[in-house]
Order: sequence, then C-alpha cells, then structure tokens
Amino acid sequence: MAHEDPIPPRTPEEAEALNDRIDPETRARRDAALKLVRQYGDPVLRSRALEVEQFDERLADEVRRMGRLMHDALGIGLAATQVGVMNRVLVYRVDPEAPVAAVVNPVLEWASEEREPLEEGCLSLPGVLVEVERPVRERGRARDERGEEQLIEASGLEARVLQHEMDHLDGVLILDRTSRDQRKQAMRALREASAGSPPLGVGA
Ligand code: ZN
Repeated sequence: MAHEDPIPPRTPEEAEALNDRIDPETRARRDAALKLVRQYGDPVLRSRALEVEQFDERLADEVRRMGRLMHDALGIGLAATQVGVMNRVLVYRVDPEAPVAAVVNPVLEWASEEREPLEEGCLSLPGVLVEVERPVRERGRARDERGEEQLIEASGLEARVLQHEMDHLDGVLILDRTSRDQRKQAMRALREASAGSPPLGVGA
C-alpha cells in the first residue's frame, strides 16, 4: 500500500492531501530521496548534459540508482542532471505497475502541433506547481542502458514526462516554460520552501 500514488497532484491542495495520506515510513523514504535530488539554485540544473558513449556496468548501475531514487521520491520521472550526473540519461514511469523505463541520448524528431496545458511539479523545485503547455504527442529516437536503439512514441502524460526530463538534460526547467505570473508565484514558493517549509508534492 505504500506506493499507491500513480497520479501526481495537480494542485497545491492535492499535494497537501497526498502528503497527509502517505504513511510515515514512505514519507521518511521520500524525504531521504529528495535530499539526494539537486534543488533549484544548483548550477547543474542549468547545465547541458553530455551524450553517453559507453554503455557499461557503470551506466546500468546509474540507471538502477536513479530508478530507485525516483520510486522513493514518489516521482514519475528523473533526469541524471537532477542527481548531479552530467549524462543524457533519464528514467520515468507513468504507470506504477510498469517497470522503470531508461532513456539514454534521447533525440526528439517530431512533436505534434496540438498542445495541452497541465500543471507540472518537479522534484528539484519543492512546493512549485506551474502550468506548462506541451505537445500532446511526440516521436524520437534513443538508446536503452544497454545501448539498444529504441523508438520513442509517446502521448499524453508519458509524452509530457519525457519532454520535462529532456528539458532537464538541456538545463531547462518548468519555470522557463510557464507564464510570467506563474513564474513569479513559483519563485515565492521556492523562497518559502528554502525558509524551512517541507517540500510538497510529487514531480519529475
Ligand atoms: Zn523536473
């Protein structure tokens, strides 16, 4: 029962409700995981990650570690830059029953003109939820952690999470993709969070 949180909260109220609903053990594990995630202000979050050239055991370890961290943090996606590793690697899991997917060196080749706004959170931006408009569907190429080519074909929440994480690999944050008003509110929330309020919500 500890990991029944497939859907990220859409509003601060929902995030609060989630916070109340998870058991103390899960919350402690999440807090510990979040301590390992680089937070806003850390320059690595603004850096561009590098192509992976070696598909070795070290990369497989890194992917496993990121998957565990994402799981413990109750996130649905995590980019390597968020743990201070400058590799073009991300993990995500939209369906909590599915295995964690690893995406290495992703390249977006097509995105739909149809776009959709939705509130997004981010494990690196505690307490922040902002509306981000993104293409609804996308296609691209990537490799998995063993170097096998994989096709990216995603829509809806999966497409959104992938775009969010690929942004991280280029040093782009949801703050850069939202309206000026929402950015201002987010900056206020970040200041309050760093002043001691506990981090809220689930993100990527
Ligand atoms: Zn994020």
